[in-house]
Amino acid sequence: MEKEHHFIDKYLKPLSIKSETYPTGIGDDCAVIDSGERLITSKDISVSGVHFPKELDPYFIAYRSVAIAISDIFAMGGTPTAYLLGITHPKPNDSWFESFSRGLNDFNEDYDVNLIGGDLTRGELNISITVFGQAPDNLLTRKGANIGDLIFISDLLGKGKKGLIDYRENRDNDTNHYLKPKLPISLMPKLKQLVTSCIDVSDGLLIDLKRICSSSNVGAIIHLSEDIYITDEHDLIAGDDYVLCFTATAEFKEKILALNSSIKMIGQIEEGTKVKVLNKNNEEIKFKKDGWEPFESI
Ligand code: ADP
Ligand code: MG
Repeated sequence: MEKEHHFIDKYLKPLSIKSETYPTGIGDDCAVIDSGERLITSKDISVSGVHFPKELDPYFIAYRSVAIAISDIFAMGGTPTAYLLGITHPKPNDSWFESFSRGLNDFNEDYDVNLIGGDLTRGELNISITVFGQAPDNLLTRKGANIGDLIFISDLLGKGKKGLIDYRENRDNDTNHYLKPKLPISLMPKLKQLVTSCIDVSDGLLIDLKRICSSSNVGAIIHLSEDIYITDEHDLIAGDDYVLCFTATAEFKEKILALNSSIKMIGQIEEGTKVKVLNKNNEEIKFKKDGWEPFESI
């Protein structure tokens, strides 16, 4: 049985690139962050059998777990730069680490981020990631939505759900959005000047829009149309999409829609506290739940 440091030294250390902001790389008791600017940070835990299938290729476990964590930095308008990686693993081996570290490396290259440290110990397979990013001048919070604002999503809903179905039916491939979520990296610089509030859709549009509404003390109406989802209205509660849901004043509507053809306007902010979904005949559609809840099925 190889020791902890064999895996760290062989597979993780090479991923750590020294830079001005992160001058030390992996190997000492702490990582150094040498940043004169404001940083934002967030943590996400992905548990085997809860957040990804037990038998999933470690390449995708890595890519997906880091993507999910980094998504929160984009949701606040930040630029992700680095992350700390906690791994508990029941029985690590070279083949697992070889594939896992390739997933990390590909993600790091796709999004220009750096692994700066972490921890590895024994336990049920669990990936815990703490991300760091540069804060933008105007942070995109959940509490800035105002009555009359329009509501947008940065891309279609349901890609994550479809990706998981495709994976289960053995159609896994490199463009699978569940396995390799695509994050709105190129959109953010242009978008962040235009919005009043923002969240990433991780647990389902309805549950995440409710989070904006309760933080902003407002309600919302969504006008359901076929061009906002992949399969059907259940995509509004599916989660795993990592698209942005954001609000903006009506004056910026055309400017926002012109940024990217995948952006859709889906409704508006109203008085009240509820999020209502209306069909084409303006009838309310009721959903049994708002989205994914980690403690629901226990
Ligand atoms: P300590 O025991 O002092 O916490 P470790 O021996 O666990 O340190 O780790 C040694 C170095 O390896 C540290 O710089 C740590 O950040 C890094 N490291 C350990 N595990 C990981 C991991 N899963 N991913 C990235 N770096 C790691
Ligand atoms: Mg130490």
